[in-house]
Amino acid sequence: MSPSAILLPLMGFDEACRLVVDHLKREVPLAFWAVSRYEDDQQIYVCVEDDAYGKAAGGSQPWSDSFCQYMVTSAAPQIAPDAMAVPEYATTSVARDMTIGAYVGVPIRGADGTLYGTICGLDPRVASQRLTEQAPLLHLFATLLGQILQAENLRAEAVDREAKLHWSAFHDHLTGLPNRAMFFDHVEHALELGARDGRSAAVLLIDLDEFKAVNDTLGHASGDEVLALAAHRLQRAVRPGDTLARLSGDEFAVLLEGTSDPALVATRLLDALAKPFLVGQRCITISASIGVAELAQDEKETGVEAILAHADIAMYTAKRAGRGRYAVYDPLMSLPGSRTLKLREPLRQALALGDIEAYYQPIVDLGSGATIAFEALARWRHDGRDVGPDVFIPIATRSGLIPALTDHMLDLACAQAAEWSTELGHRDLRVSVNVSPHSISDPSLPDRVAHCLNRHDLGPGQLALEITEDALLHNLPTAITVARRLRELDVVLSLDDFGTGYSSLLHLRQIPLHSIKIDRGFAGDIDTNPDTEQFLRALLALGRDLKLRVVVEGVERRTQVEVLHRIGATHAQGYLFGRPVPPQDVKLQGTYRA
Ligand code: C2E
Ligand code: CA
Ligand code: CA
Repeated sequence: MSPSAILLPLMGFDEACRLVVDHLKREVPLAFWAVSRYEDDQQIYVCVEDDAYGKAAGGSQPWSDSFCQYMVTSAAPQIAPDAMAVPEYATTSVARDMTIGAYVGVPIRGADGTLYGTICGLDPRVASQRLTEQAPLLHLFATLLGQILQAENLRAEAVDREAKLHWSAFHDHLTGLPNRAMFFDHVEHALELGARDGRSAAVLLIDLDEFKAVNDTLGHASGDEVLALAAHRLQRAVRPGDTLARLSGDEFAVLLEGTSDPALVATRLLDALAKPFLVGQRCITISASIGVAELAQDEKETGVEAILAHADIAMYTAKRAGRGRYAVYDPLMSLPGSRTLKLREPLRQALALGDIEAYYQPIVDLGSGATIAFEALARWRHDGRDVGPDVFIPIATRSGLIPALTDHMLDLACAQAAEWSTELGHRDLRVSVNVSPHSISDPSLPDRVAHCLNRHDLGPGQLALEITEDALLHNLPTAITVARRLRELDVVLSLDDFGTGYSSLLHLRQIPLHSIKIDRGFAGDIDTNPDTEQFLRALLALGRDLKLRVVVEGVERRTQVEVLHRIGATHAQGYLFGRPVPPQDVKLQGTYRA
């Protein structure tokens, strides 16, 4: 039995107070008996019997006006047959304003000593000395009331916590809207009703167009603000009975039940987003693409997955047709749009079967030309064709397959590093693994990494994780905790695809980073555009100030290397030094200790 179960009272606090006061009233001859609660420096009467002093149940007075304040200094009952004979009482303003003969009181406390209230008795007359015989009984009552109240508080807290947990499990924190789980639940229910009573229903899938650009240019905080504002406008565009949910980052969905015309609602939703959003000092214009799927009357067996898949296909069709519009699902909709859907299951399977491979690309020291690390990049061959990470990583993200992909890549890369270490005779060569945005705020990541490091017996600093900036900013407090635990495991953290502003890097000083990788977009024209050279030079200086190693990505030409040497870049990666290749094609000579 748990302690709180033992404490569960047979009666509530108020009822117990009544019993206590009834008993005292019968047995101890004082004109006034009360139990009061102490809250926010107020004394609130829970139960008052024969009020000789004009108090009523529920009434309150400031604690400083209470006679009881003089007797809660210890757990022992304070008993004064003649209160005026006690100097501390006699001089109080309370005592001046009312006639107090006898006084009896005891504090009600929780197990930790918290003051909950008092049991107290008063009488305008002076009482007989025998009052003191009541001390043990009063003390017992006060202890019991304290325990009952504490149990009630615990129970109320548990109920409150459960309600909060329940709310979080089914809502999105940023917008307060129902989340994916709740939405699926509602759709399922609507489908059941549809199958039973032939009631119609439709799902509208709303995807904001190119929302990544908003995050990239304005930062995550502003991105979040836009999402919250957009959610608010969408909410106002649907009827109270319809369910609007946030499914993921910039993806919302509406479930329409009953007779609403989905096309009309889709237009209303698009209109709702059309006006610019004011965020800080800036006006931001966004648009959305909407896919509509109606529950067909003859389609009794339609499942939640199917109707959402249809809405998804329609949404992609709307995107392909030029964005900022809606499309209604039609079974004849062309297939390229549904490529994502067609790849979802095969990808799940490829991961389960370990069919995703790791290719390795060298990261080099520009001074010596030696390879100091290899970046593991995921490769998938499906149906005789290569599917690029640019295609399957987003699918994995949308399908919840990222943790499986991360674990798989970690395992491959660590196994590979262990094999190379044996071959080289030292444990200093590093491999780096890309960690998707959400993983860095996944508290289970450090344990999974630790497990992998142990299994393959890697040395300190042999594993690097490449994380992206927006991933860190998405949930900075958790990311900081996760990152610190990773550092404790001697894992090297590298900031990938860097290049969108200083301010965020300065924010990121709370993350124990080892290096930053400058997005390959910057190196691209470094040998032709003096502005880029200037920019890169500034980034290098910043990296030096923050004591971070800077790796320039996407180096394909000698002329780029010349500029890099001139501006003092120390590390680089790119086709010039080596393309990503399968492990059997990796050349280990020329690697050195990082
Ligand atoms: P990334 O982390 O920025 O990886 C570097 C990408 O740049 C790789 O593309 C690489 O092949 C390419 N690259 C390297 N040198 C050059 C160059 O000189 N010129 C050009 N044009 N490109 C170069 P890849 O392998 O297609 O990967 C694309 C992105 O997919 C990666 O970008 C990374 O964000 C993601 N990715 C790849 N593997 C994984 C993985 O295992 N897990 C996760 N979460 N993401 C992965
Ligand atoms: Ca990377
Ligand atoms: Ca990169």
